[in-house]
Amino acid sequence: MQKFDVLVVGAGPGGSATARKCVDGGLKTLLIDKHKLPRRKACSGIISNVSQNYVFENFGPIPEKAFSRPNISRGMGFYFPTVGMVYTDVDCYNLYVWRDKFDHFLAKSSGAVLRDRTRFLHLEHDGAEVVAHLKRNEKITKVRARYLIGADGGNSRVIRTFAPDVYQGLPWAYACQKYFEGKIDADDRYLHWFLTRNMGPFPWMNLKDDQIIIGLALVKGHNFQSRFQLFVDFLKKNLGLQIKRELAMEACPSNTMTPLNRFFPGRGNVLMVGDAMGLMHQGGEGISCALASGGYAGEAVIQAVHKGVDALTLYKQLVKPEMVTALDQFNPLRMKASSASSMAKQPGMLHGLSLADKAKAIRDTADFLRNEFEVQGMGDTVLKNMLHRLVFRRYRIPAAD
Ligand SMILES: Cc1cc2nc3c(=O)[nH]c(=O)nc-3n(C[C@H](O)[C@H](O)[C@H](O)COP(=O)(O)OP(=O)(O)OC[C@H]3O[C@@H](n4cnc5c(N)ncnc54)[C@H](O)[C@@H]3O)c2cc1C
Repeated sequence: MQKFDVLVVGAGPGGSATARKCVDGGLKTLLIDKHKLPRRKACSGIISNVSQNYVFENFGPIPEKAFSRPNISRGMGFYFPTVGMVYTDVDCYNLYVWRDKFDHFLAKSSGAVLRDRTRFLHLEHDGAEVVAHLKRNEKITKVRARYLIGADGGNSRVIRTFAPDVYQGLPWAYACQKYFEGKIDADDRYLHWFLTRNMGPFPWMNLKDDQIIIGLALVKGHNFQSRFQLFVDFLKKNLGLQIKRELAMEACPSNTMTPLNRFFPGRGNVLMVGDAMGLMHQGGEGISCALASGGYAGEAVIQAVHKGVDALTLYKQLVKPEMVTALDQFNPLRMKASSASSMAKQPGMLHGLSLADKAKAIRDTADFLRNEFEVQGMGDTVLKNMLHRLVFRRYRIPAAD
């Protein structure tokens, strides 16, 4: 059986950041992914300034071939039913990439032993070590490691097999986006979010390499086909959408751990990072916190191996600010002040509107939030977090306190 210091499950940004750190710290590291790499990922591919800095410092410049056209995303276009489209610029340049190429660059640059088409099945403990059962080409192999890092995304098999209690009673969301060849009357430098009715909490549209990308985020019980058709009809009517043909589709389940304050940094010598840990910013930005948490997990494991500290205890301390920032992103009183995501630092988004239009836009937003955000328990938790932060100047985070 092959033995490594660290086995990282999942070669997305979180897993690659952990692998990079561990390799730099002199640890023998295996990075696996179930897909053949490069693999696609349902994502808009907007790389915030926080993510850019992390990548540049730890992996070097993003290669030219990873960028889409346009290669800079200027911000968001918000569509209000009674006011129309309002564009709001971020205070910096966000980069626009294709995730398959971007993630592959990170994984290759991590310096770890990289094995794709290798699926994590489950793990067992043998003394102080972890034995992971992996599947490649129908063949089951076992790998022994001192630490296992679960970086396997928003629907984590590591959690499902190792700590199934974490997902108990958790509401799930689903994101799906389709790529089309065609025409639409919209600015390709912006991601458009439509505060419309009956299409779920996040009907969005953006353009990359002249492909029109139309997506929906849904919660359990929503019918995708009917809502998607409603959205397409809406875009035809309001933005002159003309579809020539469908090019591709990407979909993935997403957990709702952040707004419910149900983070899972790990247990024993299994640490979780990124989406798998439950880190996500408003608007679905998650690459910056996947990179940061991945780096912290690597740092904690290095200190554990070289200095004998408890990796999980140290990791919880290091990653706590990321949890705080993620909660800030869902706290109406904090989201603007939070510096984690350039998306959160947008200048007053209604500043160009007349008073009457501002009032209409605010009414549209309240109507949208009341009717389309149906995640069970989210409203209560957000309110509780907001009040606790206001009164005690800090959040209560069960996973880290
Ligand atoms: C529609 C949509 C749009 C988004 N747009 C943006 C955006 O523009 N900017 C942004 O910052 N964030 C965005 N996000 C969020 C972002 O995609 C995620 O937060 C980010 O990818 C998390 O990185 P990760 O490394 O934790 O997980 P992932 O990137 O999901 O990587 C997990 C990896 O684990 C692998 N894996 C899974 N199971 C196994 C297994 N059993 N064995 C081995 N490997 C396994 C998967 O193949 C995958 O490669 C978006 C998300 C969605 C759904």
